[in-house]
Amino acid sequence: DNIRPKIEKHIREVKDFPKKGINFRDIMPLFTNPQLVNELCVVIADHVRHSVGHVDSVAGLEARGFLIGPLVAIQLGVPFVPIRKKGKLPGAVIEASYVKEYGEDIVEVQEGAIKNGEIVFLIDDLLATGGTLRAATDLVVKAGGKVGEAFVIIELAPLNGRAKLTDVKLTTLISYD
Ligand code: 5GP
Repeated sequence: DNIRPKIEKHIREVKDFPKKGINFRDIMPLFTNPQLVNELCVVIADHVRHSVGHVDSVAGLEARGFLIGPLVAIQLGVPFVPIRKKGKLPGAVIEASYVKEYGEDIVEVQEGAIKNGEIVFLIDDLLATGGTLRAATDLVVKAGGKVGEAFVIIELAPLNGRAKLTDVKLTTLISYD
């Protein structure tokens, strides 16, 4: 894709964020360029149509999956489903957890947001250790749905998040070593 270099130019590397030793990949500069954001969402929606096929909804992960997910959902003309950290969504929720090195990640979706048998396109900004997308995938399945594909803009390859998602079709736009 010729969109890749354009997106790469809009990703900022922030050293020692949020903790010392972590090289944070900041996607916020992308949003200074609305034309490029739109192009990205059109490219992702085309990819869904051609490589994933029919999807019933787009589910985005808090917080940066909320920036791109709804725009892709609009392109596809399907509902957007928010997946949030525990305790943020009102009303009845379904939860899934993923055990990390230290502690646990719990994500939630509102009951009824994903209906039995629905195919969900999962989207987030970045894949690191894979814990977040693993929990989100389990959540979709628990809610009765099926992950058509998990998509991230950036993959941090050395962290091998992919290994946790071998049962899911995973697509990444940019991979960093
Ligand atoms: P994982 O669960 O795969 O280890 O971490 C992925 C989650 O953490 C994603 O929701 C992502 O937004 C966030 N994350 C971790 N590291 C980074 C980073 O360097 N840049 C950005 N933008 N998000 C990150």
